[in-house]
Amino acid sequence: MDRPAAPEPSGGWPDPSPASSFRPKKRLGQHFLVNRGILGHILDSAELQTDDLVVEIGPGPGVLTRALLEWAGQVVAVEVDRELAAKLTTELAGEPRFRLVQGDVLSIPVDSLLHHHPNDPCPRYKVVANLPYYITAPILRTFLTAACPPQRLVVMVQLEVARSIVGSPGKLGLLGVAVQYYGRPHIVCEVSPGSFFPPPQVRSAVLTIDVYGSRPVAAPDAETFFRVVRAGFSTPRKQLHNALSNGLNCTSDRTHQLLETAGIDPKRRAETLSLAEWGRVGLCYQSVEA
Ligand code: SAM
Repeated sequence: MDRPAAPEPSGGWPDPSPASSFRPKKRLGQHFLVNRGILGHILDSAELQTDDLVVEIGPGPGVLTRALLEWAGQVVAVEVDRELAAKLTTELAGEPRFRLVQGDVLSIPVDSLLHHHPNDPCPRYKVVANLPYYITAPILRTFLTAACPPQRLVVMVQLEVARSIVGSPGKLGLLGVAVQYYGRPHIVCEVSPGSFFPPPQVRSAVLTIDVYGSRPVAAPDAETFFRVVRAGFSTPRKQLHNALSNGLNCTSDRTHQLLETAGIDPKRRAETLSLAEWGRVGLCYQSVEA
């Protein structure tokens, strides 16, 4: 079945005319999507089924929300802006498949967004959102590390951030390692500032993250893994043995031994390691700590 055309710039689109009393709030990252083609890419990437539960972060005036409701079974949206939240609640009051939670997404337990499935403590769901960029990393962390993580995320993020998330060894930073530990990221398309009202100062990208059912590489538990990875990136310009010695508070001899056991040249820098290599360092660290 073909997806219906994304809505015309009427219902739900912000009114940019001087007569409108609404002024987008920069501090809340309010850049509303006004490009129907990009909306189509987001919907296509979400691969929605009629029984899907979708969590949307920051529905704003509800353009994406209305499109999601065309295809998904249920949409739960979290909006911090009281004015926008009240307006959307009123406009979609007749839609029983929609629930709006007013508040800061970082202060609301993920579980509480899913609790209307009493027989299934961890229902399958997707996150689809044009994210407020100022809290991109904490939002990704919140959902990827949740007891009940989503099956897939389809999110609009800053292009530079998207590139760092999909990075490969040589350019694989802390955020990339963190996301790739939990899921497979992919950039769907790049998005120009003119696709938003008001236009942001940066280019954007639609990013998907398919969350793994089990870890993609051998690695210790998340706490140990990230203790080691954070230590490795604590002084990114230094060679790995120095960064790890500082970050893990180990002697230089011990760190050299750790890296030798993991089969990693101690002179390498953190961003050159692959996820599998971080996993090996983490496992060796775990075994010497035990
Ligand atoms: N979904 C709309 C669209 O695509 O046009 C709006 C996207 S706009 C980039 C980001 C939205 O996130 C805004 O509506 C903003 O008010 C909301 N927002 C910002 N910080 C938030 C937070 N901490 N919790 C929930 N929503 C937030």
